[in-house]
Amino acid sequence: MIEKILPDFYRIEVPLPRNPLKVLNAYLIKGQKRNLLIDTGFNMEESKVALLESLKTLGVNLAQTDIFLTHLHPDHSGLISAVATENSVIYCGELDAYILNATHTVSYWSELKILFGLHGFPQQDIDEVISKHPGCNYNPDRDHVFSFVKDGYILNIGSYRFHCIETPGHTPGHVCLYEPNHKILLCGDHILDNISSNISELGITDPLGNYLRSLEKIERLDIRLALPGHRRIMVDVHRRIYELKKHHDNRLNEVLCLLKNGTANAYQVATLMTWDFTGSWDEFPLPQKWFATGEAMAHLLCLYNKNQLWIVEVEGKLAFALIT
Ligand SMILES: [Zn+2]
Repeated sequence: MIEKILPDFYRIEVPLPRNPLKVLNAYLIKGQKRNLLIDTGFNMEESKVALLESLKTLGVNLAQTDIFLTHLHPDHSGLISAVATENSVIYCGELDAYILNATHTVSYWSELKILFGLHGFPQQDIDEVISKHPGCNYNPDRDHVFSFVKDGYILNIGSYRFHCIETPGHTPGHVCLYEPNHKILLCGDHILDNISSNISELGITDPLGNYLRSLEKIERLDIRLALPGHRRIMVDVHRRIYELKKHHDNRLNEVLCLLKNGTANAYQVATLMTWDFTGSWDEFPLPQKWFATGEAMAHLLCLYNKNQLWIVEVEGKLAFALIT
């Protein structure tokens, strides 16, 4: 499905088969010389056919089209190998570009396994989770050369002038695009309606702290329309930012309360936190346990960085304890 948002500015729905998010919102802006495609979809046949069909319907010449990735996740980056031509520039935040190419290496996944093991994820489940991980299965076919974007970089496409805004948190190199004349924000997965973005990027010392600071950066902008990577377009993004800040504040308090009962690692904390999923922890599908553990890690590390927790070693795992 294609939706016209403004002159020469379209939203394209790309299906994400067997994924709870169901659809990616890609965006296409047509320019006189170059077009810009923002995000792409999973590297899966169904996503690919839908994206290429939509681009054809819009009369897009891929040789005159550049790609902007809001972030590295495969539902956004997976189809770059299918869409990019040798003339295409692929814009991406530097850290995300580095990690995206690293997903083609064995060492990236082994380090991930070690990290989750240290945070208490059961060893016997780790291999199974990784084998089903979308980043392992639906990422781009090969490495790519990226053009890095940073705060203040401007991309001119047709009559639109997009300002790049680094918004680390959901991923370390997440970047939003802001168009000040139309007061439009392309926000990737930084801000979504109804669902809170998963904050669990690994190897980063304080992903949730980064995320909250990135929300404050966006809060200062005058925004009429926020165009997210999934779900509905938002007309009141400031209300949503307020809700997200409150949500994480409540989660941080919940984690502090849980640790009053004693030292625990991220996996143990995840089993006790409140989740939208109905059913007990044992009934969670394995990938949900993985993302929940990542989310618990992000909240624990945020509290550690606020000097509210210690990190201690318990039976070879990293555990967190209240500073009393
Ligand atoms: Zn994402």
